Amino acid sequence: MIDRSTPDLGDLFQDIILEHYKRPRNKGALEGATVDIRMNNPTCGDEVHLYLRVEDGVVRDVAFEGEGCSISQSSISMMTQILKGQPVAEGLRVGELFKDMMHGDPDAAKSKDLKDARALQGVSQFPTRVKCALLGWNAFEEAAKKG
Ligand code: ZN
Repeated sequence: MIDRSTPDLGDLFQDIILEHYKRPRNKGALEGATVDIRMNNPTCGDEVHLYLRVEDGVVRDVAFEGEGCSISQSSISMMTQILKGQPVAEGLRVGELFKDMMHGDPDAAKSKDLKDARALQGVSQFPTRVKCALLGWNAFEEAAKKG
């Protein structure tokens, strides 16, 4: 039986995560996308279809469709807020920070560049859920290679 409940991450962080889960940012297909990629996390059943409109190396627009647990979907929503308007290279740099945070790096978790995604730092204590949190960022990394 797969546990798709939200692990206990502290009240404030929990609120931010659930708020993104209930009202995801940039949800839907993106017209004029220059690259899109589908990815899933079979251990939990999370899915994402990420769309990017990249011009001159900058993420001009980003959107996603997806379903899955609150960790995966809120993480993607938070990621789209970070990526929008940023150079792809900057997005990849913040993605590395996010990965470091998921692997328990306390310095990475302090970075303001992670914005709302810092609410997910407690997920690093739940190894089976780290894949949920990384799904969107893994999709972005693949999309950056393609685009
Ligand atoms: Zn999940």
